[in-house]
Amino acid sequence: MATFDVDSFEDWKPSDFPQGFVCPEAGNSVKYKTGGWRSRRPIWDPEACKNCMLCWVYCPDASIQVKDGAMTGIDLDHCKGCGVCVSECRFGALKMITESEAKEA
Ligand code: SF4
Ligand code: SF4
Repeated sequence: MATFDVDSFEDWKPSDFPQGFVCPEAGNSVKYKTGGWRSRRPIWDPEACKNCMLCWVYCPDASIQVKDGAMTGIDLDHCKGCGVCVSECRFGALKMITESEAKEA
């Protein structure tokens, strides 16, 4: 198995690991955020959003941000890009794009 220098993770670039990256070294979770695992991300359209909160209910990473009963955004530091929120949204307010597409936007 390949080994990785955890201390150099700050230098991680999506182009180095376009399919997402999980460091296998034990005890490294305090070194970086789980959003780095992601190869795709959800994009939120607040105009289409009905604040039904289905995405909030189903997100396995508690990454749907809500204030006063209304969705305010997505915590991309911790969203792992599973796409569950997009599947559950009935109003077309969420879509997935690749990290490469996000970088170009
Ligand atoms: S893609 Fe997955 S982890 Fe990210 S906000 Fe949607 S449900 Fe949560
Ligand atoms: S599931 Fe869709 S409509 Fe409902 S709160 Fe989430 S983004 Fe908005």
